[in-house]
Amino acid sequence: MAGIAHSDIIKAPKVLLHDHLDGGLRPATIVELAGAVGHQLPSTDPERLGEWFVAAADSGSLERYLETFAHTVAVMQTEEGLHRVAKECALDLSADGVVYAEIRYAPEQHLERGLTLDRVVEAVHAGFREGCAEAAANGRPIRIGTLLTAMRHAARSQEIAELAVRYRDTGVVGFDIAGAEAGFPPTRHLDAFEYLQRENFHFTIHAGEAFGLPSIWQAIQWCGADRLGHGVRLVDDITPTTAGPSAPSMTGGTHSAPPVLGRLASYVRDKRIPLEMCPSSNVQTGAAPSIAEHPIKLLHDLRFRVTVNTDNRLMSGTSMSREMTLLTEAFGWGWMELQWLTINAMKSAFIPYDERLVLINEVIKPAYAKLLA
Ligand SMILES: [Zn+2]
Repeated sequence: MAGIAHSDIIKAPKVLLHDHLDGGLRPATIVELAGAVGHQLPSTDPERLGEWFVAAADSGSLERYLETFAHTVAVMQTEEGLHRVAKECALDLSADGVVYAEIRYAPEQHLERGLTLDRVVEAVHAGFREGCAEAAANGRPIRIGTLLTAMRHAARSQEIAELAVRYRDTGVVGFDIAGAEAGFPPTRHLDAFEYLQRENFHFTIHAGEAFGLPSIWQAIQWCGADRLGHGVRLVDDITPTTAGPSAPSMTGGTHSAPPVLGRLASYVRDKRIPLEMCPSSNVQTGAAPSIAEHPIKLLHDLRFRVTVNTDNRLMSGTSMSREMTLLTEAFGWGWMELQWLTINAMKSAFIPYDERLVLINEVIKPAYAKLLA
């Protein structure tokens, strides 16, 4: 199959639910902001710095991977830095054809130069407001909501959950926990999740990326997560039977038996729990062997609520359009599949239902109707 041109995918409306603010900076901005605050970088040439980020994230070394975030977070410790990074994030996503995005970050990681949690949130929101206004003026409107992330290994989740609820009417649409899964189960943060549920608030949990089914099970059945960040290891609860015996079909022919879902995988599919899958990032961290072997194909075929995301655009050298292009190349997917993924994501967003419907019915469906015509 010839596939769809990357340039055409850029023009199609896209929805992004899983993208880290500190994982999507422009290399040139890092160089400028680092110069202003006296932070040492591996390179001060923007192009070489961009390559360094991707190579470090590709290296398979956790230390080098974490080092990448040390550099981005270091230049996001002032209101000016946060404002600029948020504004450019909005502009970059809009230029890539993203019409709705939920961008996450951990406010507790931006306090090194004296900002308070509230000032961090306000600086980020001001940057997004300015970026979205400029994008709309350019004729490429984008709506952005933020998710406040608490770090799994830290002990500030309750405080961050309260911060998220405090700003729910001015831009925060949800909560998340992130960081190393192994040894830091989500149940350590039960108080925060129970608080959020009492507040009728939304949250997602990074689970089933590096760590297996128990992490996913806890996120859903103990913590009550609305969505799963990644959820790749859910395939461990699905038994493929493609090589097994064929069963007779109603029409007299034979067809291979479908994969068998375990109880947890069944639950996730039955409840339409959205999976925030990030193909390139999952390959870099070893959660999937390659794009071609990524479980997203199986989960799509089994009609899980699959969504496609970027995770860290800088570290993966990617964009929403690039992730979608890779999937069309690997699986022969066309506009039908891309529309399905986009509507899945919009249905799974944390903004109110009526506002999701407007984007689906007035922006996404009309655009894909033309592409499919
Ligand atoms: Zn992530």
